[in-house]
Amino acid sequence: ASLYRIDGWGAPYFTANSSGNISVRPHGSDTLPHQDIDLLKIVKKVTDPKSSGGLGLQLPLIVRFPDVLKNRLECLQSAFDFAIQSQGYDSHYQGVFPVKCNQDRFVVEDIVRFGSSFRFGLEAGSKPEILLAMSCLCKGNPDAFLVCNGFKDAEYISLALLGRKLALNTVIVLEQEEELDLVIDLSKKMSVKPVIGLRAKLRTKHEGHFGSTSGEKGKFGLTTSQIVRVMRKLSQTGMLDCLQLLHFHIGSQIPSTSLLSDGVAEAAQLYCELVRLGAHMKVIDIGGGLGIDYDGSKSGESDLSIAYTLEEYAEAVVASIRFVCDRRSVKHPVICSESGRAIVSHHSVLIFEAVSAVKPSVHQASPDDIQFLLESDEARANYEDLYAAVMRRDHESCLLYVDQLKQRCVEGFKDGVLSIEQLVAVDGLCEWVLKAIGASDPVHTYNINLSVFTSIPDLWGIDQLFPIVPIHKLDQRPGARGILSDLTCDSDGKIDKFIGGETSLPLHELDNNGNGGKYFLGMFLGGAYEEALGGVHNLFGGPSVVRVSQSDGPHSFAVTRAVPGQSSADVLRAMHHEPELMFQTLKHRAEELMHTKGGDNEGGEEEDDDEYNNVAACLDRSFHNMPYLAT
Ligand code: PLP
Repeated sequence: ASLYRIDGWGAPYFTANSSGNISVRPHGSDTLPHQDIDLLKIVKKVTDPKSSGGLGLQLPLIVRFPDVLKNRLECLQSAFDFAIQSQGYDSHYQGVFPVKCNQDRFVVEDIVRFGSSFRFGLEAGSKPEILLAMSCLCKGNPDAFLVCNGFKDAEYISLALLGRKLALNTVIVLEQEEELDLVIDLSKKMSVKPVIGLRAKLRTKHEGHFGSTSGEKGKFGLTTSQIVRVMRKLSQTGMLDCLQLLHFHIGSQIPSTSLLSDGVAEAAQLYCELVRLGAHMKVIDIGGGLGIDYDGSKSGESDLSIAYTLEEYAEAVVASIRFVCDRRSVKHPVICSESGRAIVSHHSVLIFEAVSAVKPSVHQASPDDIQFLLESDEARANYEDLYAAVMRRDHESCLLYVDQLKQRCVEGFKDGVLSIEQLVAVDGLCEWVLKAIGASDPVHTYNINLSVFTSIPDLWGIDQLFPIVPIHKLDQRPGARGILSDLTCDSDGKIDKFIGGETSLPLHELDNNGNGGKYFLGMFLGGAYEEALGGVHNLFGGPSVVRVSQSDGPHSFAVTRAVPGQSSADVLRAMHHEPELMFQTLKHRAEELMHTKGGDNEGGEEEDDDEYNNVAACLDRSFHNMPYLAT
């Protein structure tokens, strides 16, 4: 387990158990030993159609743990509650979840339900997001915020204003100066008093990949001069009392509390200025950015790591706001944050299977096989040079001569002088030499039944790394190292970088003796962003999803929801094909051909019917199954 740094990135939710499998500790550090859930048992239960209660789902599979989600929310809330209490801060923390991080209905509903007692709300950034947030919050705490960010048109703003009519606590955060005119106009027309927020472009800059949002040239928010103009307009229209919230977001995955404190202190100054200019300010919304430690190093030295705990994050935020507000004698604001990554990343695990492994193979060339090399003067000279270099253990020359010999033989093959068998013999000889001098590539390629583009899009898009670990056999030393190659016909569909700066992963040899020889890998900490960003490259669709709760029954878990992944028909439909019509067309073709054949055939109609039925059943299965390999 230490090979994979599980205790670093996994604590307190994932650990290796005494059977060598990954256990999920659903309540984090509050989990009792008998509550641990063995991930392999879940996979076996939900994929095996024969086991009692088996569901026969196909991999890849997302396993969601609502208990983990609840624990993350509660830890975030209690970190702020503790910082507020211990620092004598005179207001409270009231967070929101940015639904863009995971819009899954059950994830959002769970968050609203789990957070209801502490007024936890939602953040939306588009019209469908605000619609889903409004309907979910109807069942939530009426004081919970619905923070409306993003580009807005009249329809978006009308929805947000309608939210207030429906007694939802919507706050329209101005991201563009022009949005103010729409808000003023529509709120009058709809007779709704809006609650307005401002998104400020801070000067504080987060230098990591996710920091491009921050700084004066960031994509979002109002510059200081725009803020002053907005204030003037609000004052002229008698609406200064509507402005109640200041929002900023300096980027995701903030690496250190020093950068965080810097940004929060700048925003707190701005908050005090808005108070001075007459706004009825109540809330400071510090955006997202609370990071997680993907590589377990806790160093904060790259986008993969952060150098603080949840508690230290909350402490730094509360201290910075308190310090500035006290100095300026401004009442402490409610603190809101929009943490997405930190809330949902841990709650789901993506499980997939390695189906085969390609080892660097050495074809043993016999002296007869390479006899032909001695027949041409040039090849013979090459071969003799190589032989001499091997004998004097001169590695550098070996590499050079291997290269030369290979090139010469490839040229010979292209000219039609060498046969395919001779080319294989030369490759074998060269591989043998490289192995003998310790220069052969020991890395295997494991073929995985997954699409990186669908399930780990950030890995392809922004080189984001996630911990990837076999979910079993952790009590056995891995005998190989491998990179992972996915199912898509795309050379970018591979994983050859891993946490800890590794270019291959320690992996177990696949045992291909049929039954039970499956090898399951898990990708962890991918609960934020990956599901919504994934595409259908090569028409590989979304994975199966199960929701698993800790249970005190005979098993330590209960599967509370199971949804098969997208079928081939589903993904075809998403590209505007009509699978039902396609099925009819293909069946019709089969019918025509089978009957034509029947006419010529002595075999009679029965055989034709059988053949036709087989074709129809095969087509039916292919449309209804997931597009991944059936293993
Ligand atoms: N709020 C806003 C405005 C954002 O743009 C983002 C993400 O980029 C978030 C919140 C969520 O950030 P994180 O996932 O780092 O918590």
